Amino acid sequence: MARRVLKGIVVSEGMATGPAFIVGTPDLKVEERKILPAELEFELDRFEGALERVRRDIADLESKVRGSLGSEAEIIATYQAFLSDDVHLMGPTRQLIAKERWQAEAAVARRFREVVAELQRLPEPLPSRVPDLRDIERRLIARLLGIETSSRLDQVPRGVVLCADDLSPTQTATLDPTRVLAIATDRGGPASHTAIVARHLGIPAVVGLGVLLSRVRPGDQLIVDGLTGEVTISPDLSEIQGFMTRARKVQSRARSISLQKKPLRTKDGVPIEVLGNIDSGEGARELMDLGVAGVGLFRTEYLYLGNADAPDEEIQTRHYSELLRAMGNRPVYLRTMDFGADKWDHRVGAGNEPNPALGLRAIRLSFEHEAVFKAQLRAMLRAAARGQARILFPMVTDIGEFRRAKAVVSAVEAELAREGVPFGPAVPTGAMIELPAAALCAEALLTEADFLSLGTNDLTQYTLAVDRTNPLVAPSYRPFHPAVLWLLRHAILAANAAGKHISACGEMAGSERFVPLLLGVGLRSLSMAASRVPGVVDRIRRLNLGAAEELVAEILRSGDGDRAKAILDHFDAAKPSKSQTR
Ligand code: PEP
Ligand code: MG
Repeated sequence: MARRVLKGIVVSEGMATGPAFIVGTPDLKVEERKILPAELEFELDRFEGALERVRRDIADLESKVRGSLGSEAEIIATYQAFLSDDVHLMGPTRQLIAKERWQAEAAVARRFREVVAELQRLPEPLPSRVPDLRDIERRLIARLLGIETSSRLDQVPRGVVLCADDLSPTQTATLDPTRVLAIATDRGGPASHTAIVARHLGIPAVVGLGVLLSRVRPGDQLIVDGLTGEVTISPDLSEIQGFMTRARKVQSRARSISLQKKPLRTKDGVPIEVLGNIDSGEGARELMDLGVAGVGLFRTEYLYLGNADAPDEEIQTRHYSELLRAMGNRPVYLRTMDFGADKWDHRVGAGNEPNPALGLRAIRLSFEHEAVFKAQLRAMLRAAARGQARILFPMVTDIGEFRRAKAVVSAVEAELAREGVPFGPAVPTGAMIELPAAALCAEALLTEADFLSLGTNDLTQYTLAVDRTNPLVAPSYRPFHPAVLWLLRHAILAANAAGKHISACGEMAGSERFVPLLLGVGLRSLSMAASRVPGVVDRIRRLNLGAAEELVAEILRSGDGDRAKAILDHFDAAKPSKSQTR
């Protein structure tokens, strides 16, 4: 019997139970069944019905992605050509049903298998069309089996657990958190942007389950435990009751934490600053309610992602101004667009690099698209008149690159002044520390940067050469690795020596487990998604900084990832903890 409890990676904490709603293109098992002559008409109708539904799905997809997601838009024409190919595809499939009496699913699978084999024998570019063909085949079979494959995720039914092979950051961004109770996927890694978006939306998510789609049927009840990473398929009543009791306890703890009532200090009295991460201005209200000291990271690329109309200078100016006004005199770190790798938008890139995480990403891409970059900087500078704006550049390598970014800011300031457009004076500018190069050369960067922000997600990925989105290497994605801590330490000491603000805004800062490492290595400011604030605040109030410093010293001395894990596990086990999270 199939295992009922699957274990995955928690990427967004929380607990939920609800019926499964399957999206995407699962590997669908087709029974090779022949039909009776009496079933023929019905079977042909079923096939035509499914074909029509897939045509509509593709047309739907086209209207959604037109003008927004370039790579998807390009494959639409190919899909439509395949769907109307009566000579090679649809005609022979009908024949397989009508003449050889195969059930429609089996006929589709057979014909597509033959065409794929033919294409693979031909010269390029024909073999490269095979994935598209396979996608169409899956869509057809899914429609025949009555499984939802729509990529429109803003219209899923209310109160479901969304199950998918994988979701893109843009798909996740279109999710409505009032409809989706939780996300469970077979692929996905701990620090992917999909995971980050799920956290921002406050949707519990467990990824990397591997075999979920082959085990779950639409409508099956699921328990998603976004603390342990367990997903239970069709739980019994006692399992549901036990789960609900635990979920209530977790919720009541979250409500009891308030930063407004009491300033945040460690158990031994060291003050710690908590800032919030957001990816749209709408997050400001929740952050203010939590009482955070400002916005430590606004991922502005999400204004573009999944948005067919590019946010021009005016739209961005309004957006940033409202955010700055809402945050009053609290600082707001506006990060310039960080496209590339798993966040891709056709307006600023080709999106087909062989190694995108090491390619034209973030600030490098902004330099290539100066008009878009300048429009964004103009908007930021104009909005800066409304509050405490800071401009943060992503993935800076060194002082040379930082100077180049600052030169664009200066050029934009000069333009605005010439045009008589009001803007905020002397807006501080700083750099993300996400590359080992930037961490190691932090002293030089600090001669011109007004502040630094530690991007531990990318810093971990680039230090350990572990793709943050790849579940195959997820066990090796170790932000606690001594190599990562050495780099953090270097940058923190440099910023302290220069008397400049340094914070961390990667997922490490929002993790109860990793916060002792960041404080122990010398950091005093953390920025995280609103959903992480209660747990982290609770952890900090119960943390003895001396113990955290000893923990870090021991890990640094070890020089070994496995040993570091053992040391951290031991520290976790010893702490006076009510809960434990990744
Ligand atoms: C990081 O890399 O830690 C970071 C905060 O940037 P992003 O996750 O958006 O790449
Ligand atoms: Mg980053």
